[in-house]
Amino acid sequence: VTASERLVVIGGDAAGMSAASTAKKLRGDALDVVALERGDWTSYSACGIPYWVAGDIGSVHDLVARSAHEHRDMGIGVRLRTEAVEIDLDSGHVQTSAGERIGFDQLMIATGAEPIRPDLPGIDAEGILGIQTLGDGERFLAQLTGRRKPRSAVVVGGGYIGVEMAEACVRRGLRTTLVDMAVQPMRSLDPELGAQVADAMRGMGIDVRTQVGVHEFLADDSGAVRAVVTDSGELPADVVVLALGVRPRSEVARQAGLRVGISGGLRTSADMSCDGHVGIWAAGDVVESWDRLRQKWVHVPLGTHANKQGRIAGLGIAGERARFQGVLGTAVTKVCDLEIARTGLSEADAAAEGIEVVAATIETTTRAGYYPGATTMTVKMVADRRTRRMLGAQIVGREGAAHRIDTCAMALWNPTTVDELVLTDLAYAPPFSSVWDPVQVAARAVAAALD
Ligand SMILES: Cc1cc2nc3c(=O)[nH]c(=O)nc-3n(C[C@H](O)[C@H](O)[C@H](O)COP(=O)(O)OP(=O)(O)OC[C@H]3O[C@@H](n4cnc5c(N)ncnc54)[C@H](O)[C@@H]3O)c2cc1C
Repeated sequence: VTASERLVVIGGDAAGMSAASTAKKLRGDALDVVALERGDWTSYSACGIPYWVAGDIGSVHDLVARSAHEHRDMGIGVRLRTEAVEIDLDSGHVQTSAGERIGFDQLMIATGAEPIRPDLPGIDAEGILGIQTLGDGERFLAQLTGRRKPRSAVVVGGGYIGVEMAEACVRRGLRTTLVDMAVQPMRSLDPELGAQVADAMRGMGIDVRTQVGVHEFLADDSGAVRAVVTDSGELPADVVVLALGVRPRSEVARQAGLRVGISGGLRTSADMSCDGHVGIWAAGDVVESWDRLRQKWVHVPLGTHANKQGRIAGLGIAGERARFQGVLGTAVTKVCDLEIARTGLSEADAAAEGIEVVAATIETTTRAGYYPGATTMTVKMVADRRTRRMLGAQIVGREGAAHRIDTCAMALWNPTTVDELVLTDLAYAPPFSSVWDPVQVAARAVAAALD
């Protein structure tokens, strides 16, 4: 059978390959799918890199959900180590780094994001790495096990990737310092919860320095990094992790004339087609997403969105209609055994949006207080002063704490007042919860503060 149509996919990870496999499953031989990936891997878990670097995961292959070989078995023409360098929308061609021009009827752009590299003196020294792809993870591990036998690491930036990588470095036996300009790591949390994260990091031996800026990187005679110059002095660093956030890797798409928003992320309709272009799709870290609470476009580079958006694009490519429903800012991570989760607006976010809120922070236990293994957890909840609608929550605590954020996310997805949340039918038995679920204890505290 000769395919009547060709889809070219740029970027072979979560968004790109979700779209490719969804469309291929639905269209079969009628759709020729060519996927271009400039790295060595397809459908991998970047999210797993910190745990691989820490030594929890034995092999890079464990992080690959579906290899190029497996995709080819499904009829998808994956080309590794092939970069798309130019898109010609008028003639429908992609130019590759290998000098090839590949024609397309439909195009899927899933080039992801790239770590921000600040323009500071010495930034190009060897051993200063952003962590984004499995290739970056391999390079970082090569540094750790290489000839130089690093003893110290500096992580610049205390977002979740910085926090996870700092833990990985310390578990690898490196003297590890994390520096951040903010008053605390994890600035997506309000300060009192962020302080608990900083304490947990210090407890595992990480030197956490907040309100500290980085000025310069110093290299030794061989060009390898040896120190980071900061507001709080010169910090020894045989390796440096840049964790200052990411920006959409949208250059090739932008040059082709596709529309981007303020973050540089591509603008799409809810069906993930690029604004004003039929048959041109984009998803994942390269796009902006619609924030359901703030009612504006935001760049939220998370795997959970990349997979959903990629699947929706794949359905659209196959002629079915599906719509991405937006994001809330739900996220979860851990440092040591401290679980950290958030959704919706923090108090600081609400202030930035000019929304008047009431917030309450409570301490409770992960299980009934008398049940073995019960540990404390903190829940902060934020609600609209006028409507009593729950607008956001943050949770920090030990085992079993974090996933309760999903209850809060559902209560945001379908607008819910704190009063309704208090009376929602949630599960209870002593091994799992206190008799009032921690989320409901927080909702009660907010309701009381609103009265
Ligand atoms: C350390 C780390 C931890 C994370 N942890 C979590 C987590 O716990 N939970 C969560 O939800 N998310 C997490 N994420 C985010 C998640 O990994 C990303 O949101 C997700 O991978 C985005 O998928 P994507 O397909 O849009 O982009 P990417 O995964 O970045 O894939 C894009 C691909 O495109 C390729 N590419 C780029 N340009 C070109 C080109 N011109 N030609 C050919 N190929 C190209 C790249 O090589 C890359 O493989 C984490 C990310 C990192 C780095």
